[in-house]
Amino acid sequence: MKKLMNAIVKPTAGPGLELRQVPVPVPGPGEVLIKVHKTAICGTDVHIYNWDPWAVQHIKPPMTIGHEYVGEIAQLGPGVKDFTVGQLVSGEGHLTCGHCRNCLNGDIQWCKDTVSVGVDRDGAFAEYVCIPATNLVAVDESLPEDVVAFFDAFGNAAHTALMWNLVGEDVLITGAGPIGMIAAGICRHAGARRVVITDTNDYRLDLARKMGADRAVNITRDDLRQVMKELHIMEGFDVGLEMSGNGAALKQMFTVMRNGGCISLLGISNVPVDIDMNEIIGRGLRLQGIYGRKMDNWHQMSYMVQGGLDLTPIITHRFHYTDFEKGFAAMNSGMSGKVVLDWTQE
Ligand code: NAD
Ligand code: ZN
Repeated sequence: MKKLMNAIVKPTAGPGLELRQVPVPVPGPGEVLIKVHKTAICGTDVHIYNWDPWAVQHIKPPMTIGHEYVGEIAQLGPGVKDFTVGQLVSGEGHLTCGHCRNCLNGDIQWCKDTVSVGVDRDGAFAEYVCIPATNLVAVDESLPEDVVAFFDAFGNAAHTALMWNLVGEDVLITGAGPIGMIAAGICRHAGARRVVITDTNDYRLDLARKMGADRAVNITRDDLRQVMKELHIMEGFDVGLEMSGNGAALKQMFTVMRNGGCISLLGISNVPVDIDMNEIIGRGLRLQGIYGRKMDNWHQMSYMVQGGLDLTPIITHRFHYTDFEKGFAAMNSGMSGKVVLDWTQE
């Protein structure tokens, strides 16, 4: 008889999720079974919960969702070395082919055949998750598990922010969602002169302020140019991090960058955005699309936390996994930072 476990599952094509019993995965050659301690809810999980057009296109029910987690190794599959049962780990959520041009070149984040945990295959919102050992990330026990639970999102923020020099630079972040809030903390930690973040949501702007943003600007009310004047940002922002997925935010960003400024684009828009190419060309703006994270930035994240970057202010909700509905309600309300689910208690 197969051993069973609790898992948060997308049962059928439609809104909602269900807590149900599914078989505990058996690690095959080169795979590892992880006993999950904590998980965090990502915006992607909310898309899947709500069954929006993105989810309709990408998710094949029934499947276990979730990809932000920390846990311990429960079992090593045949042939796995260098890890031990009981070791604290997380996992890189992108499974890559290892032999396309980008994989061979070390630009693994651009693999042409990426498979995502919790999107294309069963995920981590379960008592156990199984992944290839090549995707395992050893976690230092000194790190707070609640924070490691969302290292996946932290990795997106780090990849986006650290694309450019930040030391002594003025940074504009559009979108104070969880990733924008984390980015504000990274920019402050990494030595930016001014960190300005925009959103339309005061609750989230307040959290971004706690993460070290010099100014958290509600664009429905405040004048960004006036804020720039007050902060002595004379020629425009040096670095822009687009983290809202909203075309209006990107267009606003173009207007306040200095000539030659650098922009990384993380936010994903549901609709095509019409942009003025001449603005990019005439002002010599540099644009970089960001997908996922540099796969080697996991150690960098650990070191930033150990070096004093405190991400705990953005954890606004903690629930037992059986209360996952409350977690998704908090995420859907907009009145949340990160929501962490605990899988350690019966
Ligand atoms: P989120 O949706 O929680 O946050 C986006 C924020 O932008 C919200 O707080 C919203 O109020 C704000 N916003 C909306 N319109 C705005 C405007 N005109 N100006 C300023 N702010 C505005 O998202 P998140 O989880 O923080 O993720 C950030 C973005 O990154 C999302 O678009 C997400 O889909 C995307 N993402 C991309 C990747 C990738 O690999 N490229 C990975 C993860 C997330
Ligand atoms: Zn590849």
